Parts: sequence; C-alpha cells; structure tokens
Amino acid sequence: LIEVSGLTKSFGDTVVLQGVDFTAESGTVSVLLGPSGSGKTTILRSMNVLETPDAGLVRIADASIDFGSPPTGKAAYRRAVKALRARSGMVFQSHHLFPHKTVLGNLVEGPVQVQGRPVEEATADARMLLEQVGLAGREDAYPGELSGGQQQRVGIARALALRPEVLLLDEPTSALDPELVGEVLAVIRDLAAENWTLVIVTHEVRFAQDVADQVLFLDGGVVAERGGTEVLTDPQEERTRRFLARML
Ligand code: ATP
Repeated sequence: LIEVSGLTKSFGDTVVLQGVDFTAESGTVSVLLGPSGSGKTTILRSMNVLETPDAGLVRIADASIDFGSPPTGKAAYRRAVKALRARSGMVFQSHHLFPHKTVLGNLVEGPVQVQGRPVEEATADARMLLEQVGLAGREDAYPGELSGGQQQRVGIARALALRPEVLLLDEPTSALDPELVGEVLAVIRDLAAENWTLVIVTHEVRFAQDVADQVLFLDGGVVAERGGTEVLTDPQEERTRRFLARML
C-alpha cells in the first residue's frame, strides 16, 4: 500500500534524509524510531507533501509522486499533490483543532468543505468516529473544554473523517501529561486491531512492541535497521542497540 524509495531531503546545508526506503502492506502498523533529529517527522511530512522532498518516490495506494522528476506543469503537479494528500491523514504532536468549532464541527469541516460530502453523511460518520475514540456524547463540546488526551483523540477522529488509506501519527502522545498517554495509545491500539494502516513516530518502545508489524530504525538519514518487533528486543545494529539502551 505504501512505497517510499530513495527519499532525500536537505534543509539548506543540513542533509536530513539520504535515501530512505521502506514499504508497508495494507492493514499493518509501521513504527518509526530513531534519535532526535534523525528525520522521522520529515518522512511523515514528506509522505503528506507538507515538505517537498528533493528526490525520491512516495506512493500511497494509487497515488504517487516521483519528486526527482515530478509532473511537469503547475496544474499537473498540484493535482498529483492533492491526490497523494488525500490518501493519508496526519495526526500531529498537538492536535491543531479549530478552537471556535465544536468537536462535531471539527470533524465535519474537512469532509464537507474539502471533499464536498453531504453534511448529513459527514455528521453520521463523525458520530461513529467519536464513538470509536470514546467520545460519544461530547459532540457539542469545544476543544478548550476537553483534556489534552480527549483533544488528541478528537484529532485522530478528525484525521479519520477524511477516510484516508493511511494514518500518519507524529509522536501523538509526546505533548501529553503522562496520565493521559494511556487513553490515546488505547485508541491507536484499537485502530491497529481494526486493520487500519498506520505509520507512527513514537518514543513509546513498549507500545511499539505491542502494535508494530514492522519497526524502522532511522539513523544518519537512512533506515539503519528494519524488521519486526525483534528490532526492539534483539537489535542487530550497534546504533539501534545504543539507542534502545537509552530509551528503556
Ligand atoms: P524529533 O524526534 O526530535 O522530533 P525527528 O527525527 O522527527 O526529530 P525531524 O523533525 O524530521 O527529526 O528533523 C530532522 C532535522 O531537520 C533536524 O536537524 C531539524 O532541525 C531539521 N529541520 C526540520 N525541519 C526543518 C525546517 N523546516 N527548516 C530547517 N531545518 C529543519
């Protein structure tokens, strides 16, 4: 379902990605781990074209862009970006909800305004998603009235409301107070159990161990080690070992 190959990205003189390659099957959970600054966020943002890679291919389902030779012409490029973006939903460290809209309003906005779906259908969908993230009954609350964990769960529901093929989660719990982390991880676990395709950047190694189908350890701008959860329990690369020793 997902193919990333030869992804490179520099910011000025800082080379962040030096040829990142990985694939992920439909219904699987991929966990991206690695030291701070190793480019994990840049990979997710590139997959959603929030960053423009210097080169490399990103494919999600039937949409793809080869950034080394992108579609020529502004209109064609914009169409390709739109198609690729529509295949993935992003969940950020902090939720970026619209503060002046209710929970339901936040969920319905994208599907109606961006995708042109009927309000009734988007509303029914939104209610179902809120139930899924354990927030049935909070439709009319404003984000400011919710806890950080609840806000983040609304953020997840909002990303799902756009019916993406893939959900990209960038350290979804790192901005939360420790006592709120569990409820958000539980929601992500449920999504994994329901065979959503997830790519997660997280420092929660134990959580990764529970949910990951594949673990990608990023270092030096490349995937330095890749495998199942044995990457966490029995790493082959010295740098993976050193990183995990610091985490646990
Ligand atoms: P962390 O675990 O700390 O979130 P990360 O692995 O997600 O780190 P990135 O956020 O992808 O790493 O950043 C990788 C490198 O790219 C860092 O050195 C960062 O300073 C740099 N970087 C990221 N975005 C930009 C930008 N917009 N302009 C300049 N440098 C950037």
